[in-house]
Amino acid sequence: MILELNEQQNMIRNMVREFAEKEVRPKAAELDEKEEYPHTSLKRMAELGILGAIIPQEYGGAGLDTVTYSVIIEEISRACASTGVVTSVHNSLTAWPIMHYGTEEQKKKYLPILAKGEKIGAFGGTEPMAGSDLGAMQTTAELKGENYILNGTKTFITSGPEAGIIIAFGITDKEAGARGLSAFIVDSDFEGYSVGGIFDKIGINASLTSELIFEDMVVPKENLLGKEGEGFKIALATLDGGRIGIASQAVGIAQAALDESVEYSKQRQQFGKPLSKFQAIQWMISEMATKIEAARLLTRSAAYVKDTGARFSKEAAMAKLFAADTASWCADRAIQVHGGYGYTKEYPVERLYRDARITGIYEGTSEVMKMVIAGSLLR
Ligand SMILES: Cc1cc2nc3c(=O)[nH]c(=O)nc-3n(C[C@H](O)[C@H](O)[C@H](O)COP(=O)(O)OP(=O)(O)OC[C@H]3O[C@@H](n4cnc5c(N)ncnc54)[C@H](O)[C@@H]3O)c2cc1C
Repeated sequence: MILELNEQQNMIRNMVREFAEKEVRPKAAELDEKEEYPHTSLKRMAELGILGAIIPQEYGGAGLDTVTYSVIIEEISRACASTGVVTSVHNSLTAWPIMHYGTEEQKKKYLPILAKGEKIGAFGGTEPMAGSDLGAMQTTAELKGENYILNGTKTFITSGPEAGIIIAFGITDKEAGARGLSAFIVDSDFEGYSVGGIFDKIGINASLTSELIFEDMVVPKENLLGKEGEGFKIALATLDGGRIGIASQAVGIAQAALDESVEYSKQRQQFGKPLSKFQAIQWMISEMATKIEAARLLTRSAAYVKDTGARFSKEAAMAKLFAADTASWCADRAIQVHGGYGYTKEYPVERLYRDARITGIYEGTSEVMKMVIAGSLLR
């Protein structure tokens, strides 16, 4: 694996960093406070090709590799973790399964819409009784004539209230367990689709999270994604890729915690000198930087393996596990560097602390990541 970004990847990183610094970061605190979806940033990100980052050019996207995609999610999340996860779910969990399991008609119909950001993507996997145990989904999908009729409730869905295209799963064969699950491309315009309750969260507040309710929802037969019974396989493969996005988000949050700590420690004076002159502070900053570099390398390495076409479930799980811990640890240390001010809403580190925490929960908890890693080592 080549550790350095190539010229194009560097150029894209610089472009996204500049955009995120100028247009995303300044809004982050207010959107978090007001729990407002980042509409303006998303519109700009569609124009810049970020919403279609991984979508092939023939369908209107930028056709970027996973390493570049990881860099983009890191930079956006460094500025605003909520905008980062919305972008990650839109690309990894919505566009990707259509790119890989969709028919030509489905690709032509949905990928350009996602690339242009005309509709935002979501992933409807989790249900009240199916979290880590995703195979326990209870939503039913019954074929009646030319349509599937879906009934069930999805919960904790990122972008739920704003999404226009949703990858959703339902049981088409009750006797077959997880192998009886099928995947569907759902349009929020479909009859029987509605948004349920919006969650009051402790972090990533601008990425609205809600229930989705399917009540005799009519899904045309041609919106089956892959074959009947392939839903669980599609969900797991999609989440493998999604975890690289979340690991990248975690690296971005951790980097922001370090940035804030470096800045603050140089300005704040105690005992007649800047905090940055105290060894205790220097050690926290050194450890933060080292863990972030390790998390970034693991994440880019998982992205690189994905780009080679090899299996990458273990690498993605390792990256997410380590990066999530790093994000929470760095945000915690950043508060320590800021002392009492770090515990107030005056400085961004409290938001980073709240935002970091989710990275060890969604798209598979840290315990589930360990199960994936062990499963691949102990086969
Ligand atoms: C803000 C937010 C956004 C989300 N976005 C989406 C989304 O867009 N789409 C979507 O489908 N889902 C989404 N989720 C759901 C998320 O993926 C689940 O919350 C997560 O997978 C955990 O499921 P659970 O909450 O039901 O916890 P549970 O599965 O009930 O787990 C509770 C605890 O038990 C542990 N545990 C469970 N099983 C085992 C086991 N076998 N061995 C050891 N420990 C175990 C877990 O690790 C955890 O610590 C989101 C969640 C949140 C909070």
